[in-house]
Amino acid sequence: MFKNEYVRKVYEDVVRKNPNEKEFLQAVYEVLESLEDVVENNSEIEKQNILSRIVEPERFVSFRVAWVDDEGKVQVNRGYRVQFNSAIGPYKGGLRFHPSVNASIIKFLGFEQCFKNSLTGLPMGGGKGGSDFDPKGKSNREIMAFCQSFMSELYRHIGENTDVPAGDIGVGAREIGYLYGQYKRIKNESVGVLTGKGLSYGGSLARTEATGFGLCYFTQKMLQTMKNDSFENKNVIISGSGNVAIYAAVKVYELGGKVLAMSDSNGYIYDKSGIDINIVKEIKEVKRGRIKEYVNYVPSAKYVEGCKNIWQVKCDIALPCATQNELDEDDAKTLVKNGCIAVCEGANMPSTAKAAAYFVSNHILFGPAKAANAGGVATSGLEMCQNSMRYYWSFKEVDDKLKEIMENIFINIYSTAKKYGDEYNLIKGANIAGFEKILNAMLAQGVY
Ligand code: NDP
Repeated sequence: MFKNEYVRKVYEDVVRKNPNEKEFLQAVYEVLESLEDVVENNSEIEKQNILSRIVEPERFVSFRVAWVDDEGKVQVNRGYRVQFNSAIGPYKGGLRFHPSVNASIIKFLGFEQCFKNSLTGLPMGGGKGGSDFDPKGKSNREIMAFCQSFMSELYRHIGENTDVPAGDIGVGAREIGYLYGQYKRIKNESVGVLTGKGLSYGGSLARTEATGFGLCYFTQKMLQTMKNDSFENKNVIISGSGNVAIYAAVKVYELGGKVLAMSDSNGYIYDKSGIDINIVKEIKEVKRGRIKEYVNYVPSAKYVEGCKNIWQVKCDIALPCATQNELDEDDAKTLVKNGCIAVCEGANMPSTAKAAAYFVSNHILFGPAKAANAGGVATSGLEMCQNSMRYYWSFKEVDDKLKEIMENIFINIYSTAKKYGDEYNLIKGANIAGFEKILNAMLAQGVY
């Protein structure tokens, strides 16, 4: 529990105002715990009640999304957008379409996004949105109908200088296309109001690859700096097989490592000679199929039912890239026992609080999500920049900038962690470094 009285009171207030929102409370607790030393050293934080202001979203909207399915039936889902903090720029953060989406998940993601966006060094505030709509098994027409209805409400809350959504779980290039089409139809404006757009209508090269590539640039820099090591000849496990997981795997191979296992929400595949990522791409990106189909292409590989068991595969490096709280303390212990030296989070909050604490206290190199997966939003920032200029950079130009941003994020949070006395606690380093920029911007802008 907290040692600082002000921090404790702020947290108790968040618990009282947001009962039962376990993911949001988990994210707030982790950040506040990291900020105690900063609060003790800067009396302005309490005087200006900065902490109570950063844990309360500037705006939270929830709305009905009605649409017609292929049988002619009217379906109703709930849509959300949280605009958490605009101190350093327009709200920015993805949209998630998944049946598990609720207010708690949207708020946890929006809260984390504020610090992540701050770490990128780009002028972006924090936001997030989505719906409990499940795209799985829906026809293209149903996806389009849902996206059009969703945007028919969302459009009034967003704008290129106000709030710029992007993709997340369940929202890829297809969904962004339908959402953008509807925005344009309503507003009659071709502007960069969404990122992750297709290349033919304002998208950025390397945005698709950015989160996974960025995760590996961050991990590589961490290995080099803290262990004088690299991905070369390392065995890697990656959970998930979506956008982040696939491009993390591509970059692991480019950097000389080998991916032994990948998963989806049903189970995982294990290929001891190294997963062929082109086959995974074919299954997931082209056929929108299940990961178990991999064994039809590579009979020597193994499929294991149950995605959680993936952490039992022996590895040097683990990259959780599926979803929140997918790796618990027992998994963390198994990974460490099996000789894992580094864990970097591609997904948002994939490690439970206890798992993350276990890694830190055992001096496993641990890259927290808000730093390690910031490459996606950083490249979205670069997409906004290109849209404003009405110009495109080459793949190499964007990728070089991404690499530089990720390495700078590592340097920034590592030096902050060292300054606060624990070089292995990059969670604290990331929270403090992300917070400091928001703090300065909020202090400069007066009470709002
Ligand atoms: P995708 O929808 O492309 O892929 C998600 C993957 O995770 C799929 O393999 C999916 O399996 C699996 N998954 C989803 N929910 C669960 C669950 N409850 N249990 C186990 N597995 C699950 O999403 P992304 O790759 O875009 O996102 C993955 C993570 O990365 C999320 O936490 C997201 O917030 C985070 N992230 C994404 C960014 C981006 O640019 N896309 C940027 C920064 C963070 P299945 O197919 O069976 O559902």
